[in-house]
Amino acid sequence: MVIIWMRKIKKFTLELIKEKNLQFLESFSNSFSTMQVTVVLLKPSAVQRGILGEVITRFEKKGIQIVGMKMLCLTDEMVSEHYAHLAHKPFFGRIKESMQASPVVAMALKGVDVINVVRQLAGVTNGREAAPGTIRGDYSMSVQENIVHASDSPETAALELARFFSESEIFTYPHFLHPFTYANDEL
Ligand code: UDP
Ligand code: MG
Repeated sequence: MVIIWMRKIKKFTLELIKEKNLQFLESFSNSFSTMQVTVVLLKPSAVQRGILGEVITRFEKKGIQIVGMKMLCLTDEMVSEHYAHLAHKPFFGRIKESMQASPVVAMALKGVDVINVVRQLAGVTNGREAAPGTIRGDYSMSVQENIVHASDSPETAALELARFFSESEIFTYPHFLHPFTYANDEL
């Protein structure tokens, strides 16, 4: 009897997951959806200090879906484009050097309002001022060596996605935790 009930519960759960994922896919193509993709760079400070796993785990535990991830060396052109808003600063040279000190890991992260969520998880630019509990607050003592970059708006997220990833490097796949991450009307 118990086994029959367990099977029924399992079947019901699988159907629920299937149904909710279909709704998620439908809502993804809906222009009113707040589903977004953002770009995170795990900077050389994260690579060298051996905390890649810990930082990636934070995004996963939050319920954010990883839809792209790769290691790459940033070219001069990539860094100049990426930090164009700082090109006039006297310290631009050292930022560039810092971003090219080793490979970085680029991630494409997907979720509802994920651009803002990831900025909050990252914390403010200066690691010494970032709130405890944030990535920079917990792992950084520096403005420059501050572990992560995160897109700051839908416009920059779109540009950065194109800058660091080709189309075939971004994946669409059902996230089986979705029904336990969001309510139906949040998707
Ligand atoms: N940065 C720095 N000194 C500064 C400002 C910025 O070294 O006075 C570096 C820092 O690594 C920062 C990056 O340049 O993450 C980009 O600066 P931005 O103001 O865009 O900060 P973010 O968006 O990364 O918080
Ligand atoms: Mg910025």
